Amino acid sequence: MRICNQCKAPLKIDVWACTACGWQPRVLAGVACLAPAMMVDHDGFHEPLFVEYERLEAKHFWFVYRRKLILDALQRYFPDLRSFMDVGCGTAENLRAIQARFPRVRLVGGEASLHALMTGQRKCKAQFLQMDARAIPFTDAFDVMGAFDVIEHVEDDALVLAEMYRACRADGGIVLTVPQHPSLWSHMDEVAKHKRRYTREDLVTKVEAAGFEVVDVTSFMTLLLPAMAISRLRQRAKPPSDAMDDGFRIGAALNGVLGGVCTIEHNLIRAGLRFAAGGSLLVVAKKEGWTS
Ligand SMILES: [Zn+2]
Repeated sequence: MRICNQCKAPLKIDVWACTACGWQPRVLAGVACLAPAMMVDHDGFHEPLFVEYERLEAKHFWFVYRRKLILDALQRYFPDLRSFMDVGCGTAENLRAIQARFPRVRLVGGEASLHALMTGQRKCKAQFLQMDARAIPFTDAFDVMGAFDVIEHVEDDALVLAEMYRACRADGGIVLTVPQHPSLWSHMDEVAKHKRRYTREDLVTKVEAAGFEVVDVTSFMTLLLPAMAISRLRQRAKPPSDAMDDGFRIGAALNGVLGGVCTIEHNLIRAGLRFAAGGSLLVVAKKEGWTS
């Protein structure tokens, strides 16, 4: 069910205008804009990064590997997936992959950047909403909510998780990825406007506090962690000119090598291994109605 962005009253199907309080969003490029103040730039994301991400997301080893883990998690824990919302969907590369794996799924992509959403519209059939992750305009609406490297951009991450909980169906759940290990904090986290990197305990505690039951958690980017740590130490001595110098701008050959390392790690995780340390953390959690 949709709810009003302002007064939280239930809305009729397919309209955003609220009969209870009269609030009505502007629609730009076919996208209802629920949080216009965040449309171009905001405290949580450096807008020009989307232009870089748009070029990188399809092929860069890190994005490719993360996408495979997300699809595995959905397939394993939610094989009957019928509805999915990506909170902070960016340019919708993950939504496109989910649509390819689950062709009948109903998709919604929420994102603050209108520019990113307009790129996403060209990639897959989903409903796109310009919105604030701290005000998700749904109740009991999706089998799964995803937020992939999103909540670390938000000061009040507990509020985002509470909103995801409400928007999730009783028998549904969430899949999250976040950057891990506060000790790896670097210039790149600052440029990306991260508010924090997580410890496993911190993330699990927050997910449980929102009402979810954690059913799977693993670190990833584990095998490349030593390389990542060395790169971050070097940066502390001499910060790069911008965030993308930190391992994102790499040639095709190196991308292939690092992708090969990720494939090994991916196979280990698929075989059931769970890692305690790694550059990122993946959590799958279910709402209370879930029965195994
Ligand atoms: Zn209203």
